[in-house]
Amino acid sequence: MSSPFSRKRQKRFGAANQPLPAINSSFRKRCLTLLFLPILFSSLVVTVTLGGIRQKGYLQFLELTAYDHLVRLTSHQGLDDRLLIIGINEKDLQKQQQGELSDAVIAKLLRALQQHRPAVIGLDIFRDVPHPPGEEALAQALKAENIIVPTQLPNSESQGVPPPLGIPASRVGFVDLIIDPDNVVRRYFLYGQSPNGQVKAYAFALQIALKYLESRNKKVFKVFPDDLQISSTVFPRLSSTSGGYQLPASEAQGWQVLLKYDSPQVARQISLEQLLTGDFEPNWLENKIILVGYVAPSKKDTFPTPYSAANTTNFEMPGVKIHGLMVSQIIKSVLEDQPSLTSWSNQQEWIWIWGWSWVGGILVWRTNRLVPLLSGVLLAVGGIWSLSLLFYLQGFWIPFVPALLGLALTGASLLAYKVLYRTYHDPLTELPNRRLFLQNLQKFNRVGIDPSHDQVTLFFLDIDGFNKINAALGPEAGDCLLKAIALKLKQLFQDQAFLGRVGGDEFAICLKSAVDNSKIDTIVALIHQELAEIFIWQGTEIRSTASVGIAHGTLGREFQARELLRYADIAMNRAKEAGKDRHDLYLAGMDLEATQRWELEIDLWNALKNQEFRLYYQPIISLKNRKIAGFEALVRWQSSKRGFVSPSAFIPIAEETGLIVELGQWILKEACRQMRTWQQMFPQHQSVIMSVNLSSRQFSQPNLVSQIALTLEQIGLSGEMLKLEITESMMMNDVEAAIELLKRLKALGLRLSIDDFGTGYSSLSYLHRFPIDTLKIDRSFVSRMDLSEDEGKYSQIVRTIIALGHNLELDVIAEGIETSDQVQILQDLECEYGQGYFFAKPLSKEVATELLRQSS
Ligand code: C2E
Ligand code: CA
Ligand code: CA
Repeated sequence: MSSPFSRKRQKRFGAANQPLPAINSSFRKRCLTLLFLPILFSSLVVTVTLGGIRQKGYLQFLELTAYDHLVRLTSHQGLDDRLLIIGINEKDLQKQQQGELSDAVIAKLLRALQQHRPAVIGLDIFRDVPHPPGEEALAQALKAENIIVPTQLPNSESQGVPPPLGIPASRVGFVDLIIDPDNVVRRYFLYGQSPNGQVKAYAFALQIALKYLESRNKKVFKVFPDDLQISSTVFPRLSSTSGGYQLPASEAQGWQVLLKYDSPQVARQISLEQLLTGDFEPNWLENKIILVGYVAPSKKDTFPTPYSAANTTNFEMPGVKIHGLMVSQIIKSVLEDQPSLTSWSNQQEWIWIWGWSWVGGILVWRTNRLVPLLSGVLLAVGGIWSLSLLFYLQGFWIPFVPALLGLALTGASLLAYKVLYRTYHDPLTELPNRRLFLQNLQKFNRVGIDPSHDQVTLFFLDIDGFNKINAALGPEAGDCLLKAIALKLKQLFQDQAFLGRVGGDEFAICLKSAVDNSKIDTIVALIHQELAEIFIWQGTEIRSTASVGIAHGTLGREFQARELLRYADIAMNRAKEAGKDRHDLYLAGMDLEATQRWELEIDLWNALKNQEFRLYYQPIISLKNRKIAGFEALVRWQSSKRGFVSPSAFIPIAEETGLIVELGQWILKEACRQMRTWQQMFPQHQSVIMSVNLSSRQFSQPNLVSQIALTLEQIGLSGEMLKLEITESMMMNDVEAAIELLKRLKALGLRLSIDDFGTGYSSLSYLHRFPIDTLKIDRSFVSRMDLSEDEGKYSQIVRTIIALGHNLELDVIAEGIETSDQVQILQDLECEYGQGYFFAKPLSKEVATELLRQSS
């Protein structure tokens, strides 16, 4: 896992402002430990476990199988032409009585060989008892100095087979072959001696090789505890745990070496018949090593070898060939310095296995995607195999299977750990996620670092306008900002608090010690100050602020981490509503408020579905002739559950949740429909028009104009009959876009009015550019006009607004008229229209209809 706190990013964060403090070293150590410890731990556990399993011998079969693969992979078809094998086959035997070679035949065979002056003859045929006829002739033939004869050592199961009488010990070699637990011959028993060193036993192949090397002055043979030495060549002694072996100690007796099966053919081979009929070339024999033995399967002198698993026929090798292989191997080592086969020391093996465990661990820990992970694993497996092959060619049998298992098992355990880690940590910031944070918080309650305090303080931090950053600069920018903020928080609090990323752009901070309120203000100020630093993303400056909610909890048995986090969240939401970039403290009861609000939201959606909304119409009166000039449509909610709910209670919530868009459409349609009905009922009231309030959400709907056009068309109402009431603040966000939109609305023939005029912060310099028809003076000015408050300040304001409206050739409506005095003042100021309880409250459509009828 790469640390998100790369140097590059840090620099960027601090670039425009003061630089970030250098990353605290203990913090960096923690990051490193985070990576290092799990791998160290699991690789050690895996290696030690593998050691145990291996020692029990459970891996031996697999390791031997892998070894055989290596053998087959590296073998070739070459022959050692220093050797010739006289293989006595079925046909040769059939020519003899009872399928047994008589002494005469062997004597004849030896004479035939000796004619060509071979260097050594190894006779792999037992002659411990006479096989008449030809006893005399054989005894004569066996006197030749270059003949080695076989014997079999006595053991617990048999008496052994003695050599023919009268042959000196230097020409006798034992032919006992060692068979592995899976019946395969992989080792060769070269030499043995009694504990006191008085009785010495040389293997058949060793005697032949020594005899051959004698003529080349390479005969010096020495025995050491851990190896044999011929001339200057060392033959390492096999132990019971060499390579993949896990043998009982008794199995590893004597000086054994690994057989090097480099060619399945071993040497040229002719039959007895070929020899006796002269069907060979003389130089095959001259000065060569001749091995004579049975190759006929009926003699049952054949054994499985590493080649066997891949062969379908002839899958066993005759004993004489195996001896030949060993002879060839000794000679090659001594004369050509070819490495003999050995294994690593135990330490080397464990370092190798542990090393691959690390590779598996690092691979899994650092790779997050499947394809690179799989490629990495394949590469590693390939690496183990190639190295095993390479080392085998250099004469080392190294642990392939344990290394593979080390890689796989450490990888798997790291994967499991990673999955577990991921379920509790946020991958982006490496902070505990909500789940772990809550657990930590709950645990903190139990442990409570500072026993003298029972209070815990929780900060809930939410980045303001994070979605906007994501939308404008892309999610990478957002990610980077989150990482940077997480880092800043970590550095700010270090060991004094524990943190968590508890939501998309939400962080929670729990102080480990109790603090008083003045300290809290300092901490919040610090947070705001840290976040206020400019963050540069690809050349764009990002200024982030956050809203912070704070909640105190009392530690103890009743403590609920989840609850406390929710309280802090509620406080944060209040801070956000109050205008962002500030903090708020949770006080008892706020949760109830939040719940109630939430319930209200749900009820609002249902109200729309269940048609619980009604429109009321408040008349707008011409102050000149007291006639009805129009109506303002005002929405009412008659809730089945809550009774009557005032629009000022639900309109802001509908606005926030977006419900207003749908509700607004319904209001517009309903008002237009009513207007159309009245038009048809009362043709005499042609100048009466309908005012509809527009919310800011609706105002920023991209399809507002087309929707109004469609509604007008569907209902058959002309645009002049409809007036939209817009507040100043809606237009001030983007003045040019607002003017553009207003122009398009005007193009539909609509009339436009600025509602609550005087309360917003409109710049008067723009006012003349807005294509509007009417100013609506806010109720707060009108209602206080006739009071002597502030020496008639309010009537002055009203006077000014009316004058301003007239200067800009706009009509003026005064809303909230409640007294006849107010009417009088407004009339004196030549205000065109009035609206208020003095004339009428908002009326149901039936009452409003009746009013229209009467006024005609
Ligand atoms: P507003 O647009 O300023 O609406 C005028 C409010 O003043 C109405 O309150 C009306 O009943 C009240 N009013 C009228 N004459 C008098 C008076 O003489 N004395 C007093 N004390 N009040 C008077 P209402 O209907 O409670 O509406 C409150 C606000 O809710 C409205 O203020 C408007 O902002 C919003 N609203 C109401 N209906 C709708 C609607 O259909 N759509 C939208 N977007 N907003 C609406
Ligand atoms: Ca209004
Ligand atoms: Ca108003």
